[in-house]
Amino acid sequence: MLEGIHFLLTYNCNFECEHCFLNCSPKSEGTFTFSQIKKVLDEAPKIKSIKWIYFEGGEPFLYYPLMLEGIKLAKDKGFKVGVVTNFYWAKSIEDAEIWLKALADLGINDFSISDDYFHYEEKVEYFSKIAKIAAKNLNIPINSIKIENPKKQFLLNNNQEKGKPIIGGNIMFRGRAIDNLIKDLPKKKWDTLKECPYEDLEGLGRIHLDCFGNTQICQGLSIGNFLEHNLSELIKNYSPKDHPICGPLIRGGPLQLIKDFNLEHENKYVDECHLCFLARKALIDLYPQYLGPRHIYGLE
Ligand code: SF4
Repeated sequence: MLEGIHFLLTYNCNFECEHCFLNCSPKSEGTFTFSQIKKVLDEAPKIKSIKWIYFEGGEPFLYYPLMLEGIKLAKDKGFKVGVVTNFYWAKSIEDAEIWLKALADLGINDFSISDDYFHYEEKVEYFSKIAKIAAKNLNIPINSIKIENPKKQFLLNNNQEKGKPIIGGNIMFRGRAIDNLIKDLPKKKWDTLKECPYEDLEGLGRIHLDCFGNTQICQGLSIGNFLEHNLSELIKNYSPKDHPICGPLIRGGPLQLIKDFNLEHENKYVDECHLCFLARKALIDLYPQYLGPRHIYGLE
């Protein structure tokens, strides 16, 4: 059941992290206008199952006034609201409280920070502590999104039940992570990658929207364009098994994409997402309406 709409408020980010599955950087373009936000939030109440609206990026605090107006509108419409940030602005507790005061006044329900080594290296504990103390002082509920070093993760995974992600520590090999982080990692045979382990491709669960209209169920995988069709209609009419990419993924995972489209492939991949992402990249010109934006795939 679709419960959350996540605004990718902007693809622009002050960081260029090695693991970013949206391929964001200071050069990335694509930011919502307020009229686009209003269009989405006018549609959201028509989708009765929606409970949460999130603002994330890229880095949403780079467009602070726009983010605040979006939060205000979402709260006015009765939704719970969350924000995801890399907290680059948390230079001191006093400064962080200035940035967070307006969010506290708006009654934000979840405040998630990306406090991992990839964003801050060894300084992560210092800066995340500042953000956490400031949020606590203002009674803002705070969560951590921790991404483990992938080599450590694979060691941990060997001790986990097969296929189960480590909560809070799992990296997914999509976007820039494929270019930067797969060297020397263990790999699995391509014909064992038979299911999508993470996304609810049928029930959706949550969708991520960008300013180009892409309605994404996984990074770079869209069910249609919410600027061309009303979002509520798009959701109502979504037929997972008839979707040219989701259909095969539901039937047999990334392996099925390779088989259905007779795609060239390597013998081994790090995980399901690694194969899925490269298969989708090979299909981008065939299905531009469902695969994009191109920069997520590292294409111009
Ligand atoms: S990249 Fe593919 S396999 Fe991985 S979560 Fe997304 S849709 Fe599923």
